[in-house]
Amino acid sequence: MKSVVIAEPGQLAIKERELPQPAAGEVRVKIRYASICGSDIHIWHGHNPFARYPRVIGHEFFGAIDAVGEGVDPGRVGERVAVDPVVSCGHCYPCSVGKPNVCTSLQVIGVHRDGGFSEYACAPAGNAYVVPAAIPDKLASLIEPFTIAANITAYLKPTPADVALIYGAGPMGLTAIQVLKGVYDVSTVIVVDRIEERLALARANGADNVLNNSATPLAEQLDGLRPTLIIDAACHPSILPEAVALASPAARIGLLGFSGDPCTITQQSLTSKEISLFTSRLNSKRFPAVIDWMASGAIAPEKLVTHYFPLAQVEEAMTLFESDPRRCCKVILDIQ
Ligand SMILES: [Zn+2]
Ligand SMILES: [Zn+2]
Repeated sequence: MKSVVIAEPGQLAIKERELPQPAAGEVRVKIRYASICGSDIHIWHGHNPFARYPRVIGHEFFGAIDAVGEGVDPGRVGERVAVDPVVSCGHCYPCSVGKPNVCTSLQVIGVHRDGGFSEYACAPAGNAYVVPAAIPDKLASLIEPFTIAANITAYLKPTPADVALIYGAGPMGLTAIQVLKGVYDVSTVIVVDRIEERLALARANGADNVLNNSATPLAEQLDGLRPTLIIDAACHPSILPEAVALASPAARIGLLGFSGDPCTITQQSLTSKEISLFTSRLNSKRFPAVIDWMASGAIAPEKLVTHYFPLAQVEEAMTLFESDPRRCCKVILDIQ
């Protein structure tokens, strides 16, 4: 089978590899589509602290089960499935409180183990979720990126009365807009970014108001409006202090970033307004919710997609994704 292998940081190649056999409790998926994410780029360039090399990248993928390991119902062969990349032990403390995404022995498919930029991949049977016919093949790899928004919003508990502010109109910001509007019916969703084309995409994804903070500070443009719910999907360490300053008393702030750089905030700035801070990593069993939203039309994954490329052009696709944020949002690989 053909797989996209990062042999070591900086070295991306399509390689011929042996067809993997599903272990006990696993399924093998013949992959149809896989989408490119910023973290794939980070692994390519050696900027992901968790990645081990050589690695087949890709954690957003969809296909059909073509073989099962010992103990898995052979009736599952042929199922159209989206694969949750979060592989957890099921019995440690975080797993026991419903947070397998921070399992003490967490393995992420496409990061710690081989992923979906490949003609086939194996995964635990419980990670392969059936995709209903209402979701077309060519959009089903986008279930995973929406689970990021599903996870953070599950903590933030949005209501229609919220005034939401989202930092960043990249793929994470856009999925958050769609979930806030389409699932939680939030009345006002404001999006801030520095790229005009991305703000246009934010509008197309349902933002009520978009603000460009490349020249004028955000505080000036908000003109006293106090967001009650803030999501940092731009993930720069300078954002949290600003978000805390702008937030309404009793606001909730959700962080998705993974920067190792410090940011400075005072206890007073948080406590005086009793601000709640939530962090969110990957997803904790949010595939069923996102599949329901997508199948019912509450969210519209096609609004994120700008390009399809055949697997053979993976390097071109990843280079475009990385270098052209004005024209690129989700880029999807057509595997076979
Ligand atoms: Zn991703
Ligand atoms: Zn665990």
